[in-house]
Amino acid sequence: MDTAIKDMLETQRPGECIPLSQRIRERLQQAGARFHANDNIAPFLQDGEMELLQHEVAGKLQAVLRALVIDVDNDHNTRDTAARVAKMFVQEVFAGRYQKAPAATEFPNCERLNELLIVGPLRVRSACSHHLCPIMGRIWIGVMPSKSSNLIGLSKYGRLVQWIMSRPQIQEEAVMQTADILESKLRPDGLAVVLEADHYCMHWRGIKDASLRREFLALVTNRSMT
Ligand SMILES: [Zn+2]
Repeated sequence: MDTAIKDMLETQRPGECIPLSQRIRERLQQAGARFHANDNIAPFLQDGEMELLQHEVAGKLQAVLRALVIDVDNDHNTRDTAARVAKMFVQEVFAGRYQKAPAATEFPNCERLNELLIVGPLRVRSACSHHLCPIMGRIWIGVMPSKSSNLIGLSKYGRLVQWIMSRPQIQEEAVMQTADILESKLRPDGLAVVLEADHYCMHWRGIKDASLRREFLALVTNRSMT
């Protein structure tokens, strides 16, 4: 039997059903680990739990659809929506919360490169923590290696970025997380991360007030200049 399922059955008393999400939450709290939307919680998940978690999320999403008074039993368009969205959240767009960091083995700077290395633009896909709406953009990374720095393969930058972006994010925090992971891996003399992104919550919801309108116009102006 799958260890996660066995574990669940063993810790469950008859007639009691503790949601898996609650059990994972308790592990995190016991360890004093933060589990904000843009945190990775992979070390606290056991084999086989992702599937069960996705199942739990699907059930809760079905309840959301019902609360929106959508006839999920008879509407063929939304019959499987909860399961589809749960899969999209857990396995795709928020996978960076649940999956371990991609392998990006660092190697010493044997050639003693000391010129600015610029990576990008790399495509960025994320979602805002506030509305869970898409954020689409481009990221540039500048690395100034020193003799004692490490290097990683060029393709690894994209994988690390995607791992960080595949979580509900706030643009500034996403940039900080990207910089932090590169800093710890590379220990460069200098590091710059620039993210230019479009926040679809603004487009999707429509412009509701003057400050949003100004923000939108500033974005549009910036975009037309680049
Ligand atoms: Zn938003």
